Amino acid sequence: MPQPNILLIVVDCLRADHAYDRSLSRTPVLGGLIENGYAFSNTISSANCTTPSFAAILTGLTQIENGVRCLHGDRLNPSVPTLAEALKKAGYSTYAEASGPLGPETGLERGFTEYNYRMRQGHNSPWGQDILRRIAGGYQAPWFLMLHIWDLHGPRWVIPECRGRECGSSDYARALSSIDVYLQALMRSLPANTVVVLTGDHGEDFSRSEIDSIRRYIWTHIIMSKPFKSAWKRGLIPKHVSEISRGRIDNHYDALFEILIRVPLIFHAPGILRSGASTLQVRHVDIAPTILELAGVTPSGDMTGQSLAGIMRGEPGDHREAYIEVGASRRRRALPGLVLAGFRRANRYKYVCTLDGSRFGPWLYDLEKDPDERQNIAATQPELIAEFRNRMQELQSRRVASGTLTTEEHKAVQDRLKALGYM
Ligand SMILES: [Zn+2]
Repeated sequence: MPQPNILLIVVDCLRADHAYDRSLSRTPVLGGLIENGYAFSNTISSANCTTPSFAAILTGLTQIENGVRCLHGDRLNPSVPTLAEALKKAGYSTYAEASGPLGPETGLERGFTEYNYRMRQGHNSPWGQDILRRIAGGYQAPWFLMLHIWDLHGPRWVIPECRGRECGSSDYARALSSIDVYLQALMRSLPANTVVVLTGDHGEDFSRSEIDSIRRYIWTHIIMSKPFKSAWKRGLIPKHVSEISRGRIDNHYDALFEILIRVPLIFHAPGILRSGASTLQVRHVDIAPTILELAGVTPSGDMTGQSLAGIMRGEPGDHREAYIEVGASRRRRALPGLVLAGFRRANRYKYVCTLDGSRFGPWLYDLEKDPDERQNIAATQPELIAEFRNRMQELQSRRVASGTLTTEEHKAVQDRLKALGYM
């Protein structure tokens, strides 16, 4: 059998609950991928924001091990091999369509024959149509395409036919219905011998009604204001900003709650992969080694992630412990008391701490008994906390440096992020 084409679709801000619950949006195509493919319902993203999550997906390494830990300003460590490089070396033509903060300065373009960056463009555009044409015959087979879909990211894009209540009760749900219309055209364009992998880079918190939206607008201005930030950094506010933000901001803010880190992961390749589903906990870092195994390619270096192909073949598997970290800028990382990181273990425990272990936290949640993460049980589980603390120290000791950006590249990134509304 010839090597399959591989289409990796990463939908920005796609939460697991909204992807898997078909009553929330109108998503017949996504539903078909889930039913006829293999779905992992407990997939954990590496971060709450775009760039480190993509870096983990494209390297099979955590952000500690690949050097990309924040939204902007970090570059993939030059010594870290990438998924695209391994596929290219094995004869694949490698293409990427990236958006938002994923400019070439991130180093994530390494290994792609073509890395097309567009600042912000929905699928309902000449760009989206061009992708369909190229998939139908414009790419040199076997090919690997990493397609970053931005439409679910705020401000969300909803096509006119998906603006009704039947397509969802929130802008978020309607934007997902809108993406599903594009997925239909995409699936029709695909050559037969293609493996489709679909995931989200992280989750999202969003308003559910107009009143909720007004309330969140006011809270966003309070939490983002200089006096609030200053009071928080001085220790005058007893709660971490992540707890204050929950349910009050429309965004993927600085926190590691389930709505921000649980994403879908679906592999669809009838004739190559059987259909099925798993509730095992798996991670973003497992995606690259899985794709390489499905393509019959050996990784060029060590990966922390492990292939999920065996589980999809019906072999027994284990939960994979996930490292999670907020995407904090270098300036914030100079104040590690404000940076959150942690582990999610076996769909049961979530441990979160500040990186200097001071002032706030640690937090420990029992997700089985407390899925909404309301009760911090850290004080009742000292042995578990000590174990997680040691795990954290061990992982942090393996930290690799980010590559450096030139002054011009920093300026280009700042200008782009301002235009995208991040700054
Ligand atoms: Zn994102």
